[in-house]
Amino acid sequence: MDFQFTQEQQQIRRVIREICSDFPGEYWQEVDANHTYPDKFVEALTEGGWLAALIPEKYEGIGVGLLEASIILEEIHRSGGNSAACHAQMYIMGILLRHGNEDQKRRYLPSIASGELRLQSFGVTEPNAGSDTTRIETYAERSGDEYIINGQKIFISRMPHSDLLLLLARTTPYDENNRAGNLSVFLVDLRTAGKSIIVEPLETMINHETTVVFIEDLHVPVENRIGEEGQGFRYILRGMNAERVLIGAECIGDGRFFIDKASKYANERIVFDRPIGQNQGVQFPIAEVYARIEAASLMVYKAASIYDTGQKIGPEANMAKYLASEASWAAADVCMSTYGGYGMAVEYDIERKFRETRLYKIAPVANNLILAYLGHNVLGMPRSY
Ligand SMILES: Cc1cc2nc3c(=O)[nH]c(=O)nc-3n(C[C@H](O)[C@H](O)[C@H](O)COP(=O)(O)OP(=O)(O)OC[C@H]3O[C@@H](n4cnc5c(N)ncnc54)[C@H](O)[C@@H]3O)c2cc1C
Repeated sequence: MDFQFTQEQQQIRRVIREICSDFPGEYWQEVDANHTYPDKFVEALTEGGWLAALIPEKYEGIGVGLLEASIILEEIHRSGGNSAACHAQMYIMGILLRHGNEDQKRRYLPSIASGELRLQSFGVTEPNAGSDTTRIETYAERSGDEYIINGQKIFISRMPHSDLLLLLARTTPYDENNRAGNLSVFLVDLRTAGKSIIVEPLETMINHETTVVFIEDLHVPVENRIGEEGQGFRYILRGMNAERVLIGAECIGDGRFFIDKASKYANERIVFDRPIGQNQGVQFPIAEVYARIEAASLMVYKAASIYDTGQKIGPEANMAKYLASEASWAAADVCMSTYGGYGMAVEYDIERKFRETRLYKIAPVANNLILAYLGHNVLGMPRSY
């Protein structure tokens, strides 16, 4: 086992830290207060090629692995920023890369790498299916050399800032004996979808550009189906594992942000003639979440490293996301308590990051579902669903 990062990985960390230093708390406070998209930040990452980190050099990306991508997202979050505006570009394209044909890859990946085309939206969640993805109802009916798609999606993020949508739809009716075998993945060009796709904003407690999407008689050419019909659920699962590791990395960044802030503040804030951090009631919770974040980071790096060798990472990806999101939420709570009333004042960035990191206990998969996966699939206990 080698717990050292390579020179290249350390350099990536330094470069991202440098980029993020141009986007201080005030920048994120303004974006958050006005519910706007962090265009300048996304531009800076795109210019550096960082959103194309996982696109192979053959298709004009940087061609690094999931571990390096994790370092990128971790650093963004550690700086006090948030990569939710653009992180999907990293992992969604993996489904195209692994299961698309050569023509599709050549048609889309170089333009995605250059930033000319934005693949930022992933349409899976539906109101009537929730966490049970096999129950989605959006239907793609084959008609000659195209599919006609009808349905509704909810919580689909970044739709107004994406040119392409990777859409999961049913291509045969639900079958209890083949729950994973009737879904397919489509690459939908939002620039030409016209009135077939209606996007309505869904206000949430964080600035996340989340929407409700209504799809009516959307015509998608067969050539835009990714891989084989009926295999979509299997394709997205590996993509979701990569996503879980990257979200875990964001949580590690959040956790480190909260711990940096809390320990500094605990040293500086004088009450009763001494730094509040001298009180063990303040000091120990910070030390405890530090240990939790360090432990969770090992699982994130392990899952990413195994993924980069091409092996399956179901248990590790799920544990990484679970441990990291629980630890970052604990760190957020401890940081809020350390700051006392000031934690709620917008100018300190704690309340914003507190709201933002809470999301990860729910999305992209609820932590209960991760525990169910571990209970059923790893530990062999009875299935609850
Ligand atoms: C800000 C935001 C952005 C999002 N972006 C996207 C996106 O871009 N694309 C996309 O497709 N989706 C997106 N989502 C959706 C997200 O993936 C889902 O919200 C999440 O998977 C949970 O689904 P649900 O909300 O339907 O919860 P439900 O499935 O209704 O679950 C509700 C609660 O019940 C629990 N629960 C359900 N079943 C069980 C069980 N069998 N055992 C134990 N507990 C259970 C869950 O843990 C959860 O706490 C986003 C969500 C949010 C909030």
